[in-house]
Amino acid sequence: MSAYDYDLFVIGGGSGGVRAARVAAALGKRVGIAEEYRFGGTCVIRGCVPKKLFVYASQFPEHFEDAAGYGWTVPKAGFDWPTLIANKDREIARLEAIYRRNVEGAGAEAFHTRAELVDRHTIRLAGEGRSVTAETILVATGGRPAAHPALPGHELCISSNEAFHLEKLPEAIVIEGGGYIAVEFANIFHGLGVKTTLVYRGTEILSRFDMDLRRMLHETMEKKGIDILCHATSEKVERRPDGRLDITVTGKRKLGADQMMLAIGRVPNVEGLGLDAAGVETVKGGAIKVDAYSRTSADNIWAIGDVTNRVQLTPVAIHEAMCFVETAFKGNPTAPDHDTIATAVFSQPEIGTVGLSEDEAVKRYPELEIYRASFRPMRNTLSGRDEKMLMKLVVDAATRKVLGAHVLGPDAGEMAQLLGIPLKAGVSKDDFDRTMAVHPTAAEELVTMYKPTYRVKNGERID
Ligand code: NDP
Repeated sequence: MSAYDYDLFVIGGGSGGVRAARVAAALGKRVGIAEEYRFGGTCVIRGCVPKKLFVYASQFPEHFEDAAGYGWTVPKAGFDWPTLIANKDREIARLEAIYRRNVEGAGAEAFHTRAELVDRHTIRLAGEGRSVTAETILVATGGRPAAHPALPGHELCISSNEAFHLEKLPEAIVIEGGGYIAVEFANIFHGLGVKTTLVYRGTEILSRFDMDLRRMLHETMEKKGIDILCHATSEKVERRPDGRLDITVTGKRKLGADQMMLAIGRVPNVEGLGLDAAGVETVKGGAIKVDAYSRTSADNIWAIGDVTNRVQLTPVAIHEAMCFVETAFKGNPTAPDHDTIATAVFSQPEIGTVGLSEDEAVKRYPELEIYRASFRPMRNTLSGRDEKMLMKLVVDAATRKVLGAHVLGPDAGEMAQLLGIPLKAGVSKDDFDRTMAVHPTAAEELVTMYKPTYRVKNGERID
C-alpha cells in the first residue's frame, strides 16, 4: 500500500476526469475526484448535451412547415422558452446524478469542491479546508469560453454558458465568431424565432472545414433568414437607455440586439491550480504541456482533455482518459490517437466530416480525385423545402485512398460517425465502389459516386 491517501486523484469531474476516475477505481485503485461546479463538466452541463436539446427544440418550426406537403394541417404553434429551460435543466440534473453515481459506484470518492495542487503529491480541497495526497494526479479541468477584453463593452456580452440560462428569449441577438459554437447557436436562436446576426472576422464561416460545405451552409443559413457578416468584427457594445444593446461592427454599421454572444474559442482552466508549485509546465495560451501519453513535466502528474488544448472534443477527452489508465495503471503505454477524428457541427443543416478537406489534401498530395454530389434529399420533395444536401469524397489519385468524407444535410453527424470507421481503417475508393447501397437513403450517394467530379493536380483543378 502506498504512503499516499490515494493512488489517483483527479481534478475535474468532466467527461475525461470522470472516465479516468471510474475506470481506475474499477481496477481496484484508491481514487478521489474533485469537481468545483457540477459533475458532468462542460459537455453535459453547459455544452454538447443541452446544446443538442436546444437544436431539437429549434427544428420544430421547420418540421411544422414541412408537414403541410405531407397532408398535415398544423395549427399555429406557440413556443415557451421557460418550459424548454426547465425541461432541459431537469434532464441535465438527471445526467449529472448519473455521472456522480457512476464514479461512486465504481468505488471512487467524489468531492464537491475546488481542488488545487500544493506540490507534486498534495491537493488542497478548498471547500473542505484540508489537503490530501496522491501518488498519481490527473488534471482534467477543461476549459471555458474565451473572454474578449479588447472589445469595449465586452462585459455586456454573454457566452454559451449564459445562453443556456437566459431568463428571456431575446428578440434579436448578435453572435461574434464563426466556429462551432457561433454557428450552432446562430441556428438555434434563429429556429426559435430570434432575429440573428453572425459577425465573423474571416472570409467564410467554419474555417477548419471543407470550403464546399462552408459555402453551402452559409447560403442555406442566409436563405433561412440569418444575417452573416463576414470580414467583420464587433468594435463596440453599448447599453441603450431602453436596456437594449447597440453593437458597432466593421464599417461603423450599428446593429441593435437584446443580447450579444461571444463565441470566439475556449481557453484552458489553469488559473490558481498550483501548476507552478507542482512543477507542471504550460505552453503559450496556458494549456498544460503533455507528452504523447498525456504526462506533464512533473512525472506523476498527467493531464487530459481541453486543459491540454490538443483537440477540444468530448470523445477525445474520454479517449485520452482511457489511454491514461492503460499507460499509468495497466502497464500498457498507449498514446491517444488524434488522427482522422470524425466530427459534426449541429448547424441546420448539419455538417458531418472526417479526414482531410480538399484544401488540406491539396497541400499534401500531388493529385486528387474529388467526388461531389449535391441533391435535394427525398424528404424535401413533398415538403417543398428548397434545401440541398452535399456529399464529397476527397481521394488520393495515386493510391485511391479516401482521405476525406464530408456531408452537409440531415443526419450528417450520424453519417460522420459511421464514415469515421472506414476512413480510420484506411479504405480505398474501390472499397466504397464495391459497397452495396442502402436504398432509399441519402447516404447511398456516398457509395454511388463512381466518376470523379473533377481532379486536382498540383493544386490546379482539372475538369
Ligand atoms: P472555434 O475555435 O470553433 O471558433 C472560434 C471562432 O472565433 C473562429 O471563427 C475564430 O475565427 C473566431 N475568433 C477567435 N478569436 C477571435 C477574436 N478575437 N475576434 C473575433 N473572432 C475571433 O471555437 P468555439 O468557441 O466555437 O468552440 C470551442 C471548441 O469547442 C471548438 O473548437 C470545438 O472543438 C468545441 N465544440 C465542438 C462542438 C461539436 O463537436 N459539435 C460544438 C461546440 C464546441 P478564425 O476562424 O478566423 O480563427
